[in-house]
Amino acid sequence: TSFAAPKTPQVSNSPQAGRVPVLLPLPLDGAYDYRAPAEMPPPGSFVTVPLGQRMVTGVVWDRSESGDDVAEPRLKPVATVHDAVAMRAPVRRLVDWVAAYTLSPPGAVLRMAMGPSDALEPEEGRVGFAVAPDLPGLDAKDRRLTATRRRVLAVFNGGEALPAALLAQEAGCGAGVIRAMAEAGLLVETRLPARPPRPLPDWRLPFPPLSDDQRQAADAIVAAVEARHYETILLDGVTGSGKTEVYFKAIAAALAAGRQVLVLLPEIALGAQWHRRFERQFGAPAAAWHSDLRPAERRGVWRDVADGRARVVVGARSALFLPFEDLGLIVVDEEHDASFKQEEGVVYHARDMAVVRASLEGVPIVLASATPSLESLVNAERGRYRRIVLPDRHGGAELPQVTLVDLREDKPERQRFVAPSLIAALKETLVAGEQAMLFLNRRGYAPLTLCRTCGHRMQCPNCTAWLVEHRFMGRLVCHHCGHAERPPEICPACEDKHSFAPCGPGVERLAEEIAERFPDARVAVMASDTLVGPQAMADLVARVQAHEIDLLIGTQIMAKGHHFPMLTLVGVIDGDLGLAGGDLRAGERTFQMLHQVAGRAGRAERPGRVLLQTFDPGHPVMQALAAHDRDRFLALESAERRSRHMPPFGRLAALIVSAPDADQADQVSAALARAAPHLKGVDVLGPAPAPLAVLRGRHRRRFLMKTDRQVNLQAVLRQWLSSVRVPTAVRVQVDVDPYSF
Ligand code: ADP
Ligand code: ZN
Repeated sequence: TSFAAPKTPQVSNSPQAGRVPVLLPLPLDGAYDYRAPAEMPPPGSFVTVPLGQRMVTGVVWDRSESGDDVAEPRLKPVATVHDAVAMRAPVRRLVDWVAAYTLSPPGAVLRMAMGPSDALEPEEGRVGFAVAPDLPGLDAKDRRLTATRRRVLAVFNGGEALPAALLAQEAGCGAGVIRAMAEAGLLVETRLPARPPRPLPDWRLPFPPLSDDQRQAADAIVAAVEARHYETILLDGVTGSGKTEVYFKAIAAALAAGRQVLVLLPEIALGAQWHRRFERQFGAPAAAWHSDLRPAERRGVWRDVADGRARVVVGARSALFLPFEDLGLIVVDEEHDASFKQEEGVVYHARDMAVVRASLEGVPIVLASATPSLESLVNAERGRYRRIVLPDRHGGAELPQVTLVDLREDKPERQRFVAPSLIAALKETLVAGEQAMLFLNRRGYAPLTLCRTCGHRMQCPNCTAWLVEHRFMGRLVCHHCGHAERPPEICPACEDKHSFAPCGPGVERLAEEIAERFPDARVAVMASDTLVGPQAMADLVARVQAHEIDLLIGTQIMAKGHHFPMLTLVGVIDGDLGLAGGDLRAGERTFQMLHQVAGRAGRAERPGRVLLQTFDPGHPVMQALAAHDRDRFLALESAERRSRHMPPFGRLAALIVSAPDADQADQVSAALARAAPHLKGVDVLGPAPAPLAVLRGRHRRRFLMKTDRQVNLQAVLRQWLSSVRVPTAVRVQVDVDPYSF
């Protein structure tokens, strides 16, 4: 780390002066050339350059082979070289790799790797601004201030001081506004505090004695860490088998070797529990990287990762692009989880790109799961990944007994959703002083609101979707675009009064039924909209662990990772929910989710049981869950995919054409259809209405392109897309390896 202020380069005016390619964090075609300063900044240097009227900070990129070096007198000069940090080659290669694989502009990928705007400043002597202490009753809502000034004040969170660049960026204003506010006495200039030291995790603290299986697994992974070469290890172990314990051993080995570790967790499981456990083992917290970090924390973590002060970093998918100085190991926990797939902007799968990063860095990567994805299992079969199996739960805990409740026979009462046998089991559990959990993967009160008189269904005005009643909030909400409205008193179709009826259950409605049945039970609902912020989740988990809750009702966010020793009964209200629709992964995903939910039961000394309500008890997914026969289910699923040449036996990409206007979407779709590739091993299906035919007011059409594994899918796609002109109102989004469709 250098403590020098950013250099203003000496620019030579001679046309022979060197040129340097700079990649900017913008959706442009590639790097742009700039006139290099006398001292040529090496690839990876962060530089600020002019672009039109603006100044933009980007990264000196590597000269591509075809780059010609013809001098160009009108090249604009690099304005500033920031030499406090640089982007290492493996990260630059990762950016190029992700861009090429996903057909995204490299600059759009670079944006994810850039870090906060003030992260490039040298540490020493940083000054910033704080809200003036004696502001006479002014705050971010004060109408006497301009809207811009109010936005600046709103960036502050408590009394912290923030750098001007960051304030300007967050408030979306120029640096002049900040200066003017300081002159007006609204802000005061102050020295920014140095980053506090980060306590180091201690790898020498004792581990519990491992079982034979655990030790063999740990030894193998530790050997890979010490060998310092790339390898993907699939750690395939039943819930509670000690996968975390085993990869903690590998983390300790990487720390002992003086190297950093990246752990990716699914966003929902960014768990307080994981952090507590890590701290217990290593005596210091892991650094967390997630979207809720405050600006100053973001800078701190990013720089600590770059400077090697953060030794272990845990994050959701975007942590993949952090600037590790010396990475030694990557772990992806719950590798099968759908939330690793980013669906907006650059569409990529963080697990797969983590494997790429590991290979670029030359380090091992552990993919851990109790229900690995078919992709990873097939990669293990093909010999690309090493599979290590932990077959037993730690301490001999039994797997819970899974009973299928046939809803055609064991019928809930009218307008009720819990079958008599599940009610009886709940009663027994509560009487025994144990805890129960009811799983229903649907937020809100009811998924559909229907007029009893005319049958009118309340639909989102922007999407092809029903509005979901959230009674607690008193709103009908679209789960796709966020549109919310007050439930109407009069039917908009037939004008009948008070004619609306809820159809089907959500967790709120289930909670109502349970409260009627078990008025004395202490019930809590766990869903993303009932728990605001990570602390609310942690608090509820703590209350369940302290046995202040008897009965927990929730969506998939309660399925993951939590360990509740007194929980002995899990009831699944609608096991068939995920199976509807023609999605390729519907079966696999339902199996994974229900298996994970079932795994919450009986994790300690007490045996657990699971009652799984279904209308289709003969379905292979239900049969596999009841028989604990994952491998038979996977064999069936695998055979089916193989026969249809579907992933992982063939390759797949989706194109989504969307436009505000249905005609425009259809015109571009027709042009794409005319230009579709006719090649051996390539199949194009569509255009067809996309699963959400209208989303956020945009009409959507979809193509699926299916190819043999040997086909260069990206090259075919690139060729196809370049042959069609797309008007600006129309978007064509490419999704390589679509997860759900
Ligand atoms: P998984 O990650 O496979 O679900 P965990 O690592 O969370 O499994 O282990 C399940 C539980 O068993 C945890 O409470 C863990 O602390 C405990 N455990 C696992 N292995 C051991 C061991 N060798 N000694 C003591 N406790 C263990
Ligand atoms: Zn909507």
